[in-house]
Amino acid sequence: MTTATRTRRAADLRHMVGNTPLLAIRFRYRGQPRTVYAKAEHMNITGSIKDRMALHILRSAYREGRIGPGDTVVEATSGNTGISFAAIGRALGHPVVIFMPDWMSVERVALIRSFGARIVPVSKEEGGFLGSIAKTEEFARQQHHVFLPRQFSNTANVDAHAQTTGPEILGQLQANGLSPDAFVAGVGTGGTVMGVGEFLRIHCPNVRLHPVEPAESPTLSTGCKVGHHRIQGVSDEFIPPILDLACLDDVIAVHDGDAILMAQMLACELGLAVGISSGANFLAALMVQDMMGGEAVVTTVFADDNKKYLSTDLLREEPVRDGYLTPDVELDGYEAFRRVCDTCFATDDEE
Ligand code: PMP
Repeated sequence: MTTATRTRRAADLRHMVGNTPLLAIRFRYRGQPRTVYAKAEHMNITGSIKDRMALHILRSAYREGRIGPGDTVVEATSGNTGISFAAIGRALGHPVVIFMPDWMSVERVALIRSFGARIVPVSKEEGGFLGSIAKTEEFARQQHHVFLPRQFSNTANVDAHAQTTGPEILGQLQANGLSPDAFVAGVGTGGTVMGVGEFLRIHCPNVRLHPVEPAESPTLSTGCKVGHHRIQGVSDEFIPPILDLACLDDVIAVHDGDAILMAQMLACELGLAVGISSGANFLAALMVQDMMGGEAVVTTVFADDNKKYLSTDLLREEPVRDGYLTPDVELDGYEAFRRVCDTCFATDDEE
């Protein structure tokens, strides 16, 4: 593929990634009317927020000459990143190899394979998530023409959200006469919370930024991998290098069963087919709003769609336990805020 073709394809992909609607979710909590705002990231080309990061990292690498035509893209991921690089990498002519813990949902594996990418499963004995990352580095040492996106340490991951997700949220809120009081997001790499946070803090210095983690596996609060949880895509086993907890507010913990119940409610009652971390993000937004006052404008992301979880507990009956918030939530509906105009985020190489 020529450089001109690749540049044109990358520019075209911009229309398939990002610029998602912002949803104002109307609900009642303990009978009181409430609204929280969520970016519909499940509407990206492969159904997750990671498409933003994958496209931005590849485009930055082209611009900086760090990736050659046809180089193999090799990444460690718990799923969505693999799907994003598989699709976007293939669209731009790159073979893709994904190292992935072998306990991720079968749908994730099947989806990555469906784009023609190769998956290398990594068992717990081989090091699980951290082992997957080490294996990508080993692969790059042994082979030529390999590009490692390194999503956990590459600041282009943060930039993707500082340059797109953050400005979109602010633009969509302001167009509706609102200003954000807080942003919350479950942490996988930390790219979303750090990037959106970086942008919002410049424009709204008092905005609160809360990372979210599963109560059953509080990696961020403890600094290491403890327990097990069912919110795939977050709390991967370690604190990622691009996450700077010192510049964020308190970590919010959400029970994985509560997140599952919330995601089920969003699908069954509002027709929003979102994944488990979206349920967690919604509940974390509600918790922060409760601390700040019911009128606070709290924003978050629905990070992916539910298609990767059809074989998981998301489609099973989930027991309600003490301390869950979902039983006190009654969903009323949502309003979709108009997308920001396409030309707002255009950069020089595509105009
Ligand atoms: N939710 C899901 C479903 C994800 O796949 C991810 C990314 N691993 C996240 C949330 C967290 O996003 P980030 O990596 O930007 O912290």
